[in-house]
Amino acid sequence: MASDEEAVELTAQCLCKAQSITTSVPTSSLPLQASYCHCTSCRHVTGGMYSSCVAWPGPSAAVRALSLRSYAFSQRLTILFCGTCSSPMFWRERRPEKERKGKEEEETFEAFTGVLSNNALPDMIQVKDHIFVGDTLDGGAAIWLRHLLKDKSGTPVPCYRSWRHDSELVDPDAMAAASEAKMKHVPIPDEIPVHCRCKGVNLILHRGIADYSTKEPSQLPFFVDPSTHKLMAGFDACHSCRTSAGIDVMNWTFTLLKNIDYAPSSSSSDAPSSGSGFPSNTLDLKAAVSSPDRDPRLSHLAYYVSSDDVQRYFCSRCSASVFYAVDSRPSMVDLGSGLLDAPDGARAESVLVWILGLMIWAEDVKGGWREELVSSIKRNSEDWRIKNGIPVSWGRKLREERTAKNAAEAAQG
Ligand SMILES: [Zn+2]
Ligand SMILES: [Zn+2]
Ligand SMILES: [Zn+2]
Ligand SMILES: [Zn+2]
Repeated sequence: MASDEEAVELTAQCLCKAQSITTSVPTSSLPLQASYCHCTSCRHVTGGMYSSCVAWPGPSAAVRALSLRSYAFSQRLTILFCGTCSSPMFWRERRPEKERKGKEEEETFEAFTGVLSNNALPDMIQVKDHIFVGDTLDGGAAIWLRHLLKDKSGTPVPCYRSWRHDSELVDPDAMAAASEAKMKHVPIPDEIPVHCRCKGVNLILHRGIADYSTKEPSQLPFFVDPSTHKLMAGFDACHSCRTSAGIDVMNWTFTLLKNIDYAPSSSSSDAPSSGSGFPSNTLDLKAAVSSPDRDPRLSHLAYYVSSDDVQRYFCSRCSASVFYAVDSRPSMVDLGSGLLDAPDGARAESVLVWILGLMIWAEDVKGGWREELVSSIKRNSEDWRIKNGIPVSWGRKLREERTAKNAAEAAQG
């Protein structure tokens, strides 16, 4: 790099800050090109609705020098993540010699965009494409990721069925319509599998319909739709969630812990069957996971204390974000929506109601390149809602009323 060339310092840092790396990027090489992968494996390995990455613009040796835990994602791809807080930081790709050109390195590194610094540059990153949208069946999150950032051309971000090089383009809106039509004839099971990529966390979610339908709307947990009894799923741009999941916006759903169970064991007939004993509140869960002689069915479930009263549960083998738990609401957890295996597809609308047009913690990204990304995702989801005639959800009304009330109280002093 010429010494008089303008450059920016780009940092990749995990949530607990133990792992951090900074490199200088010439502004002439911006925006960095990001790709979002919507494949089933990526959803189950982040706990969110996709993974997103850019080629790491710094030296590989510095990445190798970090003390990261590795998870073999495929024969050529490894995820490097922080063993303490589970933030996925890099993909390492190893390519056989016959696929490399000239002096290309055997190992290349791509950074998860969620762990990157939020530099005050509007053109830091551009989303070039969505890959493996075919895996979502219903279009997944691609439906609200078509017009991102400063989309000067007006052309939607291309969506590929699988790899960008050898698959056709797909239309996520058409996929959503096809999935909706199909679901008119498919019964929705009461038990939905919930698991990380490696199945080191392997659970089931009871939808709780029988229980919820006996209750008055006012008795329902705030995250249960009063008319359909589906579960709320939302958009979270907070610093901690995006860092620990490695993606810029995390999509959580919510459940009572009493509706979570161990998945039935397929390997051993001696193991207790499902329906027995997953901790039913966050205090018991914390004790069970910390116990020296823990239930083997907890397998790779671990947690990181991100503030005094918050536990972030993850898979210690593949890094997936699983639960967010806070001591003040012991009966429930936030649950990574990418972990669900619903019959209709990745958005799991047979089970979830998406809180479209609402982004919580958008203030965390103010002033950096993410501000426009996050507001464009919110805008896309609202456009999708309006286009499809979906009413404003009860969850959004609830949130907006609360925000207005807080603002009014603040104004009164
Ligand atoms: Zn960490
Ligand atoms: Zn993928
Ligand atoms: Zn796992
Ligand atoms: Zn959050």
